[in-house]
Amino acid sequence: MTKISIDEMASFCKKKGFIFQNSEIYGGMAGFFDYGPAGSEMKKNIKDYWWKYHVQDREDVVGIDGAIITHPKVWVASGHVSSFQDIMLECRKCKFQERADTFIEDKLDIAADGLKAKDLNKLVSENELVCPKCKSEFKEAQDFNLMFETQVGPKQDSESKAYLRPETAQLMFTNFKLAQEAARMKLPFGIAQMGRAFRNEISPRNFLFRCREFEQMEIEYFIHPDKVKECPYIKEVADYEIIVYSEDMQKNKKEAAKMKIKQALDKDIIKTGWHAYWLAVEHKWFVDLGVNPDNLRIRQHLSDEKSHYALDTWDLEYNFPFGWKELQGMANRTDFDLNQHIKHSDQKLTMYDQKQKKHIIPYVVAEPSLGVDRSFLVFMFDAYEHDKERGNIVLKLDSKIAPIKAAVFPLATKLEDEAREVFDLIKKEFPCKFDRSGSVGRRYARADEKGIPFCITYDFDSREDKKVTIRNRDTTKQIRVAIRDLKDILEKLLKGEKLEKFGKIIQ
Ligand code: ATP
Repeated sequence: MTKISIDEMASFCKKKGFIFQNSEIYGGMAGFFDYGPAGSEMKKNIKDYWWKYHVQDREDVVGIDGAIITHPKVWVASGHVSSFQDIMLECRKCKFQERADTFIEDKLDIAADGLKAKDLNKLVSENELVCPKCKSEFKEAQDFNLMFETQVGPKQDSESKAYLRPETAQLMFTNFKLAQEAARMKLPFGIAQMGRAFRNEISPRNFLFRCREFEQMEIEYFIHPDKVKECPYIKEVADYEIIVYSEDMQKNKKEAAKMKIKQALDKDIIKTGWHAYWLAVEHKWFVDLGVNPDNLRIRQHLSDEKSHYALDTWDLEYNFPFGWKELQGMANRTDFDLNQHIKHSDQKLTMYDQKQKKHIIPYVVAEPSLGVDRSFLVFMFDAYEHDKERGNIVLKLDSKIAPIKAAVFPLATKLEDEAREVFDLIKKEFPCKFDRSGSVGRRYARADEKGIPFCITYDFDSREDKKVTIRNRDTTKQIRVAIRDLKDILEKLLKGEKLEKFGKIIQ
């Protein structure tokens, strides 16, 4: 991977058709982005693979697909109406607005997430922090609720006020009983959902990292309250290694350390088997999709950083060019949310325990909550490589998420019709591209930059031997295969089998 800045990544994404600034022709709108031809395919692949790995391949997780606007009481019960806020700094003179905690973190290199307005004000005055635009003083820091409001129906009064959901999670709690009964789920089980979320971020920045409209992929995993420590799947991940950065390491200025999941549990660094299990599963999802594990770590929230509902929270973080940042949050929410909805809706969101002969409220010990757009950014950064020998960028995306799987080239214009027949053979099986313009070298470079794993060239010999060459994007190695076998071989190569297996390497 070649390190580039977030701005360089944004312009690369624009040039190659991955991401565009939303409404760019009107000057753009901060915090909103549109996925282009390559980006929309790749985003779909990420979401499909997430759904397959977390829902379809598992017996214990079911999915839902909830509405973006939901009853406003949901957000009262969840605590979002009263406390889903960031603290804002506003310049007295030019009115420039900044999110206070991240501004202070950047300026003073300290952790400020979770600090109250009065503490942030103190830090601003003690360190004489001023407006980065006009160097004037800030007003007193204030709370700012991040939810987007809207009106439902033709009346424009307070009764019709509603919110665009700021997270997908609450719908798993409000639908908990319906989903559990309909799918006849027994504890432990999870409900998953992916979809749009909206937050009126004070200062959206760092490209896709902090947007005002984004997508989440989340699971609420419900466990019997007496069995929060017993995870029957822990053996599957016991020897899995992760870089761990605990609260103790952070407070005592120690380095993060690589360790096996079983060590983190034995040393009581991660408190419950369930939390450890889901942290490993989520970490592995990224590694299976080609992300370098050295760029991932799990970090425990400090006591004053945790949300009001959380007993213990760990973030999966990625080493972005602007530092280690949250990619996925995983809070131990206990029975907070179900309890809140029981209180506010007066409904029985419980399960009957036959053995104990009583109703119990399940616990959520781990709530893997991942942003699609932040994941997208991680895959792009991790795959981006400037190859000096080739003189171009090679986007080493895993085949599962690469937007286009193969490109077919005729070596010369005269061969176009025959090459198109080859293209027609495979285009319905895999998203493919036909490229006839420019030199073959230029076409290889274009394919490398779009992350296309394989290029297939039809040349003059192909007319005689009915064979084509397949070139691997990452190694540039090539083999020659019979056209009639192309579809099957490509399918196997895309699943990760080695090129060498299907033919002699030619230069
Ligand atoms: P942050 O501290 O960065 O604001 P958060 O802790 O508020 O994030 P969560 O509420 O835990 O985030 O949301 C879960 C996940 O949703 C995050 O880990 C992230 O991947 C994604 N996410 C949250 N806010 C945004 C945003 N504004 N833009 C893009 N993705 C986001």
